[in-house]
Amino acid sequence: MGFREILIKLPTDYDDDSLNREIEKTLNIKRFTKVIGKKSLDARKKNKIHWQLKVAVTSNELAGGERPQTSILKIPYKKRDKKAVVIGSGPAGFFAAYTLQKGGFKTILVERGKDVIQRKADIDFFERENSFTENSNYAFGEGGAGTFSDGKLTSRTKKISAEKAFILQTYIEAGAPEEIAYMTHPHLGSDNLLIMTENLRKMFIDRGGSVIFDCLVSDINVGSGKVKSLESSLGTIEGDVFLFATGHSSYETYKYLIKKGVQYRNKNFAIGSRVEHHQELINEAQWGCTSLKGVKAAEYRLTSSADNELPVYSFCMCPGGKVVPAAPYKDVNIVNGMSLYNRNSPFANAAIVAGINLESILKRPIDPLESLEWLEKLEQSFHIEDFRAPASTIEDFLRGSNSGNIQNSSYPLGLINYNLSELLPPFVSHALKRGLSDFSRKLKGFEKGNILGLESKTSALIQVHRNKDGLADRFSNLYINGEGSGYSGGIISSAADGIKGSMAIIRDF
Ligand SMILES: Cc1cc2nc3c(=O)[nH]c(=O)nc-3n(C[C@H](O)[C@H](O)[C@H](O)COP(=O)(O)OP(=O)(O)OC[C@H]3O[C@@H](n4cnc5c(N)ncnc54)[C@H](O)[C@@H]3O)c2cc1C
Repeated sequence: MGFREILIKLPTDYDDDSLNREIEKTLNIKRFTKVIGKKSLDARKKNKIHWQLKVAVTSNELAGGERPQTSILKIPYKKRDKKAVVIGSGPAGFFAAYTLQKGGFKTILVERGKDVIQRKADIDFFERENSFTENSNYAFGEGGAGTFSDGKLTSRTKKISAEKAFILQTYIEAGAPEEIAYMTHPHLGSDNLLIMTENLRKMFIDRGGSVIFDCLVSDINVGSGKVKSLESSLGTIEGDVFLFATGHSSYETYKYLIKKGVQYRNKNFAIGSRVEHHQELINEAQWGCTSLKGVKAAEYRLTSSADNELPVYSFCMCPGGKVVPAAPYKDVNIVNGMSLYNRNSPFANAAIVAGINLESILKRPIDPLESLEWLEKLEQSFHIEDFRAPASTIEDFLRGSNSGNIQNSSYPLGLINYNLSELLPPFVSHALKRGLSDFSRKLKGFEKGNILGLESKTSALIQVHRNKDGLADRFSNLYINGEGSGYSGGIISSAADGIKGSMAIIRDF
């Protein structure tokens, strides 16, 4: 049996038969099996947009050829009597708990929010009645922050290939489309994420794991460099090793961890707003036509930099998506983006953010608690009366004018016409103006969209002092992983960081 890996270009609306014919023609063979290794859209030339596929072909009609090695995560199992407690059921916490359970630990996953079905009902109620539910919203609840998201599975880190392969395989077992294994820009959509989150929990429980919902961990009891137990809304929780994967929205968690001796430092982060356009405008600008058979919706990724200025870039672009009210607490107002698997809403949105370092902007050293307070206050200032999003057209924002001509929006709780320069810190607003002018030159019609709300959750603004696996400095059994640790951002890198913590626990306990 021989093996070849080939690159094939196909029209955007190709089907499986045309792919097979192309393989037959390229390799001059009739019988074979194939596995798509990579699939990406090449839209560099608008009149020649096509898919580019890397296909692994196995056939008796081929001789020789070497299969590429794939990294596999090996989780060593041992029967153990130690109890591991994981706090937070987002990607980092879930994968940490799942890995620990596979490694033989008695594992408890503790989550402040509700299970994903009840959480969905609470979010629907919020969007219908403008009535916010504490601990069960876009930020908190089973599955973590990205459960109701576009579910983009891209990650820039190259050092996590074994973890990433394990995450994608586990997602596929839980019902994710198989294409996530080979698309260069894979995404799940909120509809798949909802089903998968429930299935992942069942897979964990079937292996003997336990999940406790509606359980807010409110403190740690510390002695001799160890966490002895946790305090929670449901009472004291005992354990031998504790892994916090509470994300970057859980401000009270940061505060009690810091109070109990966990050390943090400031890090660079980014702040801005979301922009929204009609998807057809983005399709036209990127493809030269309003729709393209075989491709869902056009994406963009934009960056703008200038000497001695803050870098500005687009982040978490959601084609065919919706801008959502992503507040974790009732007195703050922030936005984020999501989409369904088909990405078929008439709107495209993305965060446009400026990268900042608070200490260099405020020109003095600041304590991590002060940074948190700074951000909290900013998030509160966007909660003007309720969860409507302050907004204007991008053109108005650039000119500093107020035409009141806001475009239609997918944002479910309504927009208030507002000059965002009055709400954003001046250095952010200044940088966004420069970036948005630049983007309006790069992407035709960009200035025609809306700019709305505050985007403050691209990554954590503080970072814990820990070793590479997540073990917090000065503690022997406290791991801090995922986005809240300040070492990861996004679904894949946070899940991978959770796995790293759990693999270290499997090794060391
Ligand atoms: C609307 C939206 C869209 C997004 N879209 C994408 C995307 O398309 N692709 C992407 O890669 N990333 C996306 N993200 C970011 C991504 O969701 C996060 O990077 C990722 O979820 C971080 O994982 P985590 O497990 O570290 O933390 P989180 O997902 O934040 O999970 C933390 C969990 O801990 C729980 N928790 C917090 N404090 C406590 C406590 N004290 N006691 C008990 N439980 C607690 C929370 O309820 C939560 O479930 C999106 C985020 C949002 C909000």
